[in-house]
Amino acid sequence: MDFAFTEEQQVLRDEIVRFARAELNGDIEARDREGVFPHELWKRCGEMKLQGLPVPEGLGGVGLDALSTAIALEALGYGCRDGGLVFAVCAHLLACVIPVWKHGSPEQHARYLPGLAGGGLIAVNGMTEPGSGSDAFAMSTRAEADGDGFRLHGTKTFSSNGPVADVAVVYAVTAPEKKLGRITAFLIEKDTPGFSSGQTFHKMGLHTCPIGELVFEDCHVGPETVIGGVGGGETIFAQSMEWERICLVAGHVGTMQRLLEQAVEHARTRQASGRPIGRFQAVSHRIADMKVRLEAARLLTYRAAWRLGRSRESALDASITKLFASEALVDSALDTVRILGGSGYMAEYEAERALRDAVGGVLYSGTSDVQRNIIARWLGLLG
Ligand SMILES: Cc1cc2nc3c(=O)[nH]c(=O)nc-3n(C[C@H](O)[C@H](O)[C@H](O)COP(=O)(O)OP(=O)(O)OC[C@H]3O[C@@H](n4cnc5c(N)ncnc54)[C@H](O)[C@@H]3O)c2cc1C
Repeated sequence: MDFAFTEEQQVLRDEIVRFARAELNGDIEARDREGVFPHELWKRCGEMKLQGLPVPEGLGGVGLDALSTAIALEALGYGCRDGGLVFAVCAHLLACVIPVWKHGSPEQHARYLPGLAGGGLIAVNGMTEPGSGSDAFAMSTRAEADGDGFRLHGTKTFSSNGPVADVAVVYAVTAPEKKLGRITAFLIEKDTPGFSSGQTFHKMGLHTCPIGELVFEDCHVGPETVIGGVGGGETIFAQSMEWERICLVAGHVGTMQRLLEQAVEHARTRQASGRPIGRFQAVSHRIADMKVRLEAARLLTYRAAWRLGRSRESALDASITKLFASEALVDSALDTVRILGGSGYMAEYEAERALRDAVGGVLYSGTSDVQRNIIARWLGLLG
């Protein structure tokens, strides 16, 4: 077992950290306060092909394996202090680009992948509905056969990037009578008649990644919009969730590293009762716990990404990794707030934003309870 980065992985990591620090952090407090999606920075990320890291070069991406993709996203999460932008890139790449790349037709590849991988297009994933979330496949959005195409009716909610997206990966029921193969994935352009943005939401964190509804009213789409065949939706969604649960939390690992460094620096320099606060055991042990969480989350992420890249069964690893890393980020962000004292509560010091951003992680891509259900099912404890 070799835990060292290859030379290419080290160069990739350093390059992304340098890029993110130099290009992505300006005006972050104002952006977060005003909830502005940074279109220009999205394009700069696209020039680096961050939105297409694992997509083959011939299709417009970088051609990285899954482990290198995770290392790259960890570097992005470390260098970029805009958690909303990191999340927007990850949601686009892992829940939208992956399904199109892995299951799309040659025509879909040619039409969409260069733009999706290079920052020219923004994608949204529409799975959750007002009446179905954790039980995602209980959706009520229908796609009824109509001529050689389909007619969609229904509303998706909490769709990240929705308000700014150009294309949507949307899941709808095509065979309500079936148990398996009920759901089909579609790739639908935003200006398709019958497709509109509904409500947008103001959320607790991740302010620079807008979120909203996707509304389909009598929306006719042709057969060329189907991704991977009629009835393939469940499999496509499950695969994209494995990528998301593993590679999105790689970004969390990077954020935890940055928070740890901030906490250590503060503990060394902040004085109380005539000594650096890091000399108090209560503070130093809190920081030691942050380090343990970081290293454990990193190892889980690398192992899961390694398995994902070798097409090994990785659903269990994905749930374990997602559960641990997302909860670890919340704990470490809160610990950073505590260590910074009153400053930790102020927007100028980043920790409060990191904490607000972190809470979303225990909800999206399946809540922590849902991950525990999956793990328990693998152990034969749940039906
Ligand atoms: C920041 C953010 C971004 C998101 N982005 C997207 C996106 O881009 N696309 C998209 O489709 N969705 C997105 N979502 C939606 C997200 O996937 C859902 O919110 C999530 O799956 C939970 O569904 P729900 O909100 O309906 O909660 P519910 O399913 O109603 O759950 C409510 C509570 O009940 C618990 N619960 C429910 N079922 C069970 C069970 N069987 N066992 C144990 N506990 C259970 C949950 O854990 C939770 O605590 C996003 C959400 C957030 C917060």
